[in-house]
Amino acid sequence: MSCPICGEDTLQAFRPFCSKRCADIDLAKWLNGSYSVPSQREEDAESVQEPPESQPLRRH
Ligand SMILES: [Zn+2]
Repeated sequence: MSCPICGEDTLQAFRPFCSKRCADIDLAKWLNGSYSVPSQREEDAESVQEPPESQPLRRH
């Protein structure tokens, strides 16, 4: 099993992360709302209808 943050091997003491630092990073993601928050996302889904993200393809 590898750390979901940095991909390093996990330490048993910090599973599923490799270190306290990566655990903190994951926690920060939660606090910043990077992870889906069902109660908020549902409102957004109803009021905002965004088209699929379209990125211009640039190929040589
Ligand atoms: Zn890590």
